[in-house]
Amino acid sequence: MLPGGFSRKAALNCGHMRTAFTSFLVFGVISVFAGCSQPASEPTPAAQSSAVLYEGARIVPGDGSAPIERGAMLVEGDRITRIGAQGEVTAPAGAARVDLAGKTVIPALIGAHGHVGYQKGLTFLRENYTRENILNDLNRAAYFGLGTTMTLGIDTPQFVYELREFTANGQHGAARLRTAGSGIGGPNAGPGNAVYSRGVAYEVTTEEEGRAAVRDVAPHKPDMVKIWLDVRGGRGQKIAPPVVRAIVDEASKNGLKVIAHVRDHIDAETAVGSGVYALAHLARDRDMSDALVADIVKRGVYVTPTLSMAERNNYAGAVPAWFEEPGLLALLQGSLTKVELDLVRQGFIERTPEQAANATRAYGILERTVTRLNAAGARVVLGGDTGLPQHYWGLAEQRELELLVKAGLTPAQAIVAGTSRAAEFLSLPDLGTLAAGKVADFLVLDANPLDDILNTRRISNLYIQGKRVDREAMRAKWQTSGS
Ligand SMILES: [Zn+2]
Repeated sequence: MLPGGFSRKAALNCGHMRTAFTSFLVFGVISVFAGCSQPASEPTPAAQSSAVLYEGARIVPGDGSAPIERGAMLVEGDRITRIGAQGEVTAPAGAARVDLAGKTVIPALIGAHGHVGYQKGLTFLRENYTRENILNDLNRAAYFGLGTTMTLGIDTPQFVYELREFTANGQHGAARLRTAGSGIGGPNAGPGNAVYSRGVAYEVTTEEEGRAAVRDVAPHKPDMVKIWLDVRGGRGQKIAPPVVRAIVDEASKNGLKVIAHVRDHIDAETAVGSGVYALAHLARDRDMSDALVADIVKRGVYVTPTLSMAERNNYAGAVPAWFEEPGLLALLQGSLTKVELDLVRQGFIERTPEQAANATRAYGILERTVTRLNAAGARVVLGGDTGLPQHYWGLAEQRELELLVKAGLTPAQAIVAGTSRAAEFLSLPDLGTLAAGKVADFLVLDANPLDDILNTRRISNLYIQGKRVDREAMRAKWQTSGS
């Protein structure tokens, strides 16, 4: 402790608050600070508080419960300590107050299906997979409102586990990283892009090889084990059902859960029947059978539909109107250079009508399946398959939320899929819900996403662990140096 009962930690917090205050003023949010008006050398009792009362906003808790129309949320350090109606939530003496009247607060979004590190500028390459580029993707995720994101199976151990630790407490001021590490597939039938040269994923054909791969990855404690059940258009060899069962069994013995990439209905049946924890994607060769829908619900299998990845292939010859939606375009223009945006536009334009027609057929199957799974009460989580070529971080998640609603989820259900349900999926119980005791990860929106899910794009501010994320600095960097 420093003289006068004033701790060094409190002095640092006070300095942070002044920075935050300036930012609030810049962005037009009225804020009244009771403390931090004195230099650190002349502490006032108020300076000992790191509490901030955010008041006046509509608060959407994220767990599906009703919003608090004029709410207040007290954040002390990195936690929410009190939440309720404005006027009923008391704050300690010296707490700062932030007026959020007219805003809506939801939990920071959580993406359950992404791939960090490969996209950089106009290229999608293994060489791009560096610590710096992964962190850049986490910045991009935060820019679009994500507090946490899961990278799913094409990650090598030298970066991803260290970065999971490094980002665990949000100290880097961007999205946290969770990971499935290196996934497991059949020979040449793992990850789908040619840039994932050998060594990214395990290639197995026998039960013992499957078990050995699980034992190899287990010491890293991945958040999940990713497997691929696919022949990749005939390029590779699918893992046989007994090998799938052996991998799931070995994972279970090591305290790990398995998420299965599937493309065909028969593989979804194999995966669910083998006891996987989750499906990455859903079958696109035929509508899901009633029996499989029921089995997914009964077993509580999580699903990441990845609608956005499939849907973008539906367009040929022109840029779809949804890509130019003002809220989305503003975020894209903030995080991508013009040539990067033009690359995405070009992807739509260059597709042939035949390719688009085939994609539309497959997408119809996928969308109908999501509609039925949701209606049956399946655990749908937000997963955009983000980070794939021209399927940029943030673009994928924001579009995915829109498509979940088009597939029949209510906006409230879509928010649950991207907050509390995704936190549950990742076994991160302190995240994904706005409630006393939870980590203060929250998104301040200019408009209500319960009225229109597109309003999740109207981001005023993102907070991770109680700290405001400097999205403006990210945008400034991308505008000057590209991504
Ligand atoms: Zn994926």
